[in-house]
Amino acid sequence: MVTPVNLLDFDVDGLVAWFATMGEKPFRARQVMRWMHREGCAEFSQMTDVAKSLRARLERDAVIAAPQPVRDSVSVDGTRKWLLDVGGRNAVEAVFIPETRRGTLCISSQAGCALDCSFCSTGKQGFNRNLSAGEIIGQLWLANRLLGAVSGGEAAGERIISNVVMMGMGEPLANFDNVVTALRVMLDDHAYGLSRRRVTVSTSGIVPAMDRLREVCPVALAVSLHAPNDALRDKLVPINQKYPLKALLAACNRYLEAAPRDFITFEYVMLDGVNDQDSHARELVAIAREVSCKFNLIPFNPFPNSGYQRSSPERIRRFSTILAEAGIVATTRKTRGDDVDAACGQLAGQVLDKTRRTAAGRPVIPVSEERR
Ligand code: SAH
Ligand code: SF4
Repeated sequence: MVTPVNLLDFDVDGLVAWFATMGEKPFRARQVMRWMHREGCAEFSQMTDVAKSLRARLERDAVIAAPQPVRDSVSVDGTRKWLLDVGGRNAVEAVFIPETRRGTLCISSQAGCALDCSFCSTGKQGFNRNLSAGEIIGQLWLANRLLGAVSGGEAAGERIISNVVMMGMGEPLANFDNVVTALRVMLDDHAYGLSRRRVTVSTSGIVPAMDRLREVCPVALAVSLHAPNDALRDKLVPINQKYPLKALLAACNRYLEAAPRDFITFEYVMLDGVNDQDSHARELVAIAREVSCKFNLIPFNPFPNSGYQRSSPERIRRFSTILAEAGIVATTRKTRGDDVDAACGQLAGQVLDKTRRTAAGRPVIPVSEERR
């Protein structure tokens, strides 16, 4: 039997090309794209304006398959988190954060991450594999369905998911092609029609991939800075040894030439006694003079054996004040969804039992235990 093609793996151009191999016209591909993504349709039989013969063919040769949720938790603050099974005992997470005038979905790009930032629980799990384009866009497809945001579930003109951030598990720019395909679906008017300003890729700073993203699909960019000098950043974000600050900041400036926003968001995790001193803030002021930017200070989210602690609220305020006095916009991220472990860097952390690594050294997720 031939493995069916997962239509969530395609952007519009990809689906048009696949339809062409079956002798089907481009408008048919766009029609199916709208059914899948705008209506959240999972069944070809429901695509009523698609010719019956094509529907029968799709039933035979294709599927619309998103990762399956194995846990669905809602925080007291309304943050909703899904643990999603992506097969092979791997799970990733997606988080929906409702706010007054927007709803943000945070999605994952890889199972695990190879970059091993010292304060990140995803990094501590090691790298398992890249998610397919269908598994990436499937998180948005699924969240829309589960939030009732499809088939008339949304009030007129109001989107339940208005923003998407690639700040879940994994380094999006290390899974470049699949991430770009998923980004194109997010932006496409036949699918989600999100504006480039409302889709954010967060990267630890893979310089050549930042340049490629600027060329092929410039969306809003967040860069995980976390340290104001190479000596410290080499330790916290090891990819800095390959692409040090000078190269990173130059790439940020090149990116801004094509970016939909006129600033880069610098993410900065606040680690007690490590990168949170006045002197660090003053070094950041010098960096901010080189690149148009805003800072997002993220109170460290602890996890077992991390070896780090969160900076105190007073320290974070003082740090933020130094930046503000130099005319730099710095917001401190609210810790949302703490009670369901949905905060940054905690995603899927707790379900991994590191004593149960496979022969290849990969952590395994006891999915059955998760269901309890
Ligand atoms: N790999 C990408 C995106 C995923 S992580 C990146 O590194 O940018 C999203 C953000 O959460 C990054 O800024 C990351 O550094 C931060 N983060 C990771 N672990 C964290 C933790 N324990 N506490 C707070 N923020 C963390
Ligand atoms: Fe990977 Fe980002 Fe975590 Fe670093 S912070 S290990 S790049 S997911």
